[in-house]
Amino acid sequence: MSVTVQFLGAARTVTGSKYLLTGEKGKIFVDFGMFRGEENLTQKNYEEFDFNPAEVQYVILTHAHIDHSGLIPRLVNKGFRGKILCTKPTLDLCRIMFLDAAHVESIEIEWRNRKRQRAGKALLQPVYNAQDAAFCMQYFEAVEYNKLKDLKNGFKVRFDDAGHILGSSIVELFTKIDNKEKKLVFSGDLGNEMQDIIRDPEKLESADYLFIESTYGDRLHKGRKETLKEFESAIMNANKDKGNIIIPAFAVERTQEIISELSQMYKKSKLDGFSVYVDSPLAIAATEIFQANSRYFNDKTRLEVEKGINPFSFPSLVYCKRMEDSRALNDLKSNAIIVSASGMCEAGRIKHHLKHNLWREECAIIFTGYQAIGTTGRAIVEGVKAVKIFGEEIAVRAKIFTLGGFSGHADQKGLLKWLSFFKTKKMQVFVVHGEEKGALAFADVIRQRKHYTVTVPELGQKVKL
Ligand SMILES: [Zn+2]
Ligand SMILES: [Zn+2]
Repeated sequence: MSVTVQFLGAARTVTGSKYLLTGEKGKIFVDFGMFRGEENLTQKNYEEFDFNPAEVQYVILTHAHIDHSGLIPRLVNKGFRGKILCTKPTLDLCRIMFLDAAHVESIEIEWRNRKRQRAGKALLQPVYNAQDAAFCMQYFEAVEYNKLKDLKNGFKVRFDDAGHILGSSIVELFTKIDNKEKKLVFSGDLGNEMQDIIRDPEKLESADYLFIESTYGDRLHKGRKETLKEFESAIMNANKDKGNIIIPAFAVERTQEIISELSQMYKKSKLDGFSVYVDSPLAIAATEIFQANSRYFNDKTRLEVEKGINPFSFPSLVYCKRMEDSRALNDLKSNAIIVSASGMCEAGRIKHHLKHNLWREECAIIFTGYQAIGTTGRAIVEGVKAVKIFGEEIAVRAKIFTLGGFSGHADQKGLLKWLSFFKTKKMQVFVVHGEEKGALAFADVIRQRKHYTVTVPELGQKVKL
């Protein structure tokens, strides 16, 4: 009896997370994410599956981020009829994120097909549409953290809080290999400690096989406190009477963390003269889901909510729900803080705000999250002189701030700390979910410190456990 794992995404890259586990009695996936960013990866979203979706019994979903969940509607569309297991916040978030992804996809496919038509190539079908996005939700089933569930196919599963975004999970899978009970642990995306709203990642003590993320495997973040200071000083030193501050932020988690921080700054009178706008339909919908799931918050914030304090509301904060509210922001020349998505500036309303503010030296852009290779955000952070937005060349003249400490991911120190809680002496470690350089470097660090067997799998590689 053996189990084979195939790395169909997030192997030597951070995107497209999906791992196919094949046991004697069944096939399950851990995550089923979409590839984002580089063209040679995103085209994989359109490729035929080289397995039969109808044979897959479960998707064990670590969290709602599209690069972990985003191809589920396509999987269902192609015949999957099993169950998708995840926590309740993940389920709620997926519902809105899939619809958003379908919308982004419809814009993307139009652009791709125009290009392909000019090149005389066959047109692409969208990965999925809004109907597929809604249809797949009936196969979701919410599970509680820390409860063992028997999948009745040779696997048992338990979810633990990964502290990355609301509802995010570390996944423990139990199965028999050569008649011995073995435990596989998928770290999922591991969070940073001391976040405003969510809990710290749970500590685990044992595993036979560990699949650990390495997004920041070769880097360290600045501390949370230091980052908050930088954030405050970027805002307070901004030329507020002449320019705006634009904050690209991931719609889920980062936006809510930023709002919560801004609300605390407001209370300390540090936002005087500013109006704050949240301009992203997805971020607004996600904030509502956060409010409905406050029992998953960390103790401090949960107790505040129970006392009637809303961390996502203060007098100078405006949620731009209607299109015209969003468009009106284009006319604001100063005194505005605009929090908008997507976080890597690839899609969504942030593109409009960059178009109107990036070329103005009196404005500031504050990056608060990871910028993947190939994205507009990455180019700006790396100091290019101009970027293309809606086909137009926009000069980069605004002040650029990059605040690493807001990251939703543990840095190298955080990953090693989490790893240090394992008491298992012998463990086979697979370093996944990191760009190649970072993953290889992190694997070396683990080898130097622990006597574990460490592998950095290639995309598509199959390993028999
Ligand atoms: Zn994530
Ligand atoms: Zn991820």
